[in-house]
Amino acid sequence: MRATVLYGAGDVRIENVPDARLIEPTDALVAVSRACICGSDLWPYQLMKPGEPPRRMGHEAIGVVEAVGAEVRTLKVGDVVVMPFAFSDGACVFCQEGLHTSCIHGGFFGTVEVPGAQAEAVRVPLADGTLFVLPLGEDDALMASLLTLSDVMGTGHHAARAAKVGRGKTVAVIGDGAVGLCAVIAARRLGAEQIIMMGHHPDRIALAKEFGATDVVSERGEEAVERVRKLTGGFGVHSVLECVGTDQAMRTAISIPHYEAIPASEPAFYNNLTVGGGPAPVRAYMEELLPDVLEGRIEPGRVFDRVITFDQVPDGYRAMNAREAIKVMVKP
Ligand SMILES: [Zn+2]
Repeated sequence: MRATVLYGAGDVRIENVPDARLIEPTDALVAVSRACICGSDLWPYQLMKPGEPPRRMGHEAIGVVEAVGAEVRTLKVGDVVVMPFAFSDGACVFCQEGLHTSCIHGGFFGTVEVPGAQAEAVRVPLADGTLFVLPLGEDDALMASLLTLSDVMGTGHHAARAAKVGRGKTVAVIGDGAVGLCAVIAARRLGAEQIIMMGHHPDRIALAKEFGATDVVSERGEEAVERVRKLTGGFGVHSVLECVGTDQAMRTAISIPHYEAIPASEPAFYNNLTVGGGPAPVRAYMEELLPDVLEGRIEPGRVFDRVITFDQVPDGYRAMNAREAIKVMVKP
């Protein structure tokens, strides 16, 4: 089968690899009908060092179950499923608390150890706990939005939950990438009154406004902090959703909540600030977000602005890295 292999910084290739197959009795084999390229795929694409082992990329997918192991109970051949970016047993103490990304038997797709989903097929460990069966055929028009439940929509929602976004609250979203855009959707969905998008790509900002952003701040650093204060009567916001993951973004994030920022190391203390977050347990959020997708209340699939075939995957990485595309969907 064909699969995406990252060999080094900037060196991603489509190659013929041995067919994915069942190994453990708890595995499922999924034929991938849609995958995507993630902002986090760009980290190794930019930074992979010579000598690091090649990686089979991809951690977001929708597909059709092709085979199941002897111990798989809840899935059958032909089921259309969403694959979250992490696999999990759905049973351990962490999974029971809804923190599937900390599953004691779990792990992540697209790593050196676990081949990823930018491929014609993917082996899914702990299939019963991992895969989420969709009540739709694989060609449904909602598939783009459903595909975002495998990562970016769940991740934006996790940012909003961690930041305690709620009805009537003021929110700043740092970053206009796919996760930031989904965070705008999540903030609006949870009832935020003012949603300030902090980003500077005109096409992405336009989409953020359609998703519910009420204000836009395109400045950077100190100027951005000042603008947010101005937009909030001098106070700052209740919640900051940091959706970039850089030092600069984090500095801005802890400078714009309520009240005057204290320089140096104590803003968190004086602002009564809570810093939280982590890998989103997207598997836990699927049930909550699914009805809103199915009934058209949210349309996170609009973050996909390019659909490519397998042969175009290397160019898809290049386009996302060059910020020519917000998010790229791969249809084998
Ligand atoms: Zn678990």
